[in-house]
Amino acid sequence: MLEKHTGVARQRGTQPWPTPRRIATISVHTSPLDQPGTGDAGGMNVYVVEVARRLADAGVEVEIFTRATASDLPPLVEMAPGVHVRHVTAGPFEGLAKEELPGQLCAFTAGVLRAEAARPPGFYDLIHSHYWLSGQVGWLAKERWGVPLVHTAHTLAKVKNAQLAAGDRPEPKARLIGEEQVVAEADRLVANTGSEADELIKHYGADPAEVTVVEPGVDLDRFTPPPAGDRAVARLVARRRLGLPPHGYVVAFVGRIQPLKAPDVLLRAVAALRRRDPRLAAELTVAIVGGPSGSGLDRPTALIELAASLGISDTVRFLPPQTGDDLPAVYRAADVVAVPSYNESFGLVALEAQACGTPVLAAAVGGLVTAVRDGVSGVLVDGHDAEDWARALGTLLTEPRRRAELSRGAVRHASDFSWARTASGLLTVYREAVAEHRSRLVSKFSDGSTVQPAGAC
Ligand code: UDP
Repeated sequence: MLEKHTGVARQRGTQPWPTPRRIATISVHTSPLDQPGTGDAGGMNVYVVEVARRLADAGVEVEIFTRATASDLPPLVEMAPGVHVRHVTAGPFEGLAKEELPGQLCAFTAGVLRAEAARPPGFYDLIHSHYWLSGQVGWLAKERWGVPLVHTAHTLAKVKNAQLAAGDRPEPKARLIGEEQVVAEADRLVANTGSEADELIKHYGADPAEVTVVEPGVDLDRFTPPPAGDRAVARLVARRRLGLPPHGYVVAFVGRIQPLKAPDVLLRAVAALRRRDPRLAAELTVAIVGGPSGSGLDRPTALIELAASLGISDTVRFLPPQTGDDLPAVYRAADVVAVPSYNESFGLVALEAQACGTPVLAAAVGGLVTAVRDGVSGVLVDGHDAEDWARALGTLLTEPRRRAELSRGAVRHASDFSWARTASGLLTVYREAVAEHRSRLVSKFSDGSTVQPAGAC
């Protein structure tokens, strides 16, 4: 039966579950030190960083293994108290696409194993791998170290391929097979939402007893609503800071620019709105924040060209990826944040915007159905038809009272999510995984095997 953790640790019988002292987090293809919102860095990076900090606060040390992408990177970087990033050399530092990384997994795994071999025995109590490439590394490391493997997929190829944008490249079969292997080998699978858990069970044959839903969070100290009554002033200040027009409507898209995220759907909707309601559209600015990523790198200027071909270049402003500290200004500058993705494992941008009090117009897909409460904190749109999106956007923009209501609902809804809660949920999964792994080893040992329990927790 599926469990959804809300941060309440449990005990089995009278025995408290052991808490891991130190975990190895694996993030092969993207570094927690990278700027999210461009290339391969996005929500997973934010997730790994935020959770590591909260785990360290709870007394669990975290070492994050990632591939070195420059020759001058120090082998070990302290990112925060109790959180280290270890750069593993595997393949050329630059010019290696994510799709080419399967060929470097052996080198990466060797680097991880060598790093551990230089530590005292039983240094890590558990491995948490993120994305299937890391799961492949974690699978081997867990067997060598005699510790449990917890895996989070973040995205699943079978789901992605079923919801591809027109003309987007499907994920290769090698990834599908690799994901199936990791699902079979991991001791525990963490899903962002109930629907992701269902996908793991139905499409990847995961054992329901090994799948736990732990929802991602949002930094509620960073992403805050403007003080009551000051929303208009906060909007003006934010727009000035970003160089956006002080008056009129702003609709923002924030994230990696690639077909899967469907920023083109927003542009087509704005073009449709211009045909339906030219006066309203004349008051509108679309802010696209982020950099090219994935198959979006094939033609990084595609969106600029699309805006020109739709005749809306004057309406669209492109802003480079923003740091986490600068993002609240983007969300506050906007009347609406659009998330038209074809699929999202969760959709952190939607949560961050809502925490800032900005309603979200999102596609009713994947994790967005959880991240946005339709009619309460935002509006969910079925499908990606430009006319449907234009209608939904036009309605939202012309109904200020509804937007104000949704804004209040957005703040309330986002307040249910926090990284502390996510870390607490993960810690419960870790404790269970360590306890189960240990009891399996103990029974194997008492059966006459030479295997001894590893890791004194
Ligand atoms: N992000 C950022 N700067 C940008 C654009 C995005 O820091 O310019 C961050 C954003 O705050 C969010 C993450 O990138 O936390 C994107 O996560 P999301 O789940 O929305 O999408 P993903 O990248 O995982 O597909």
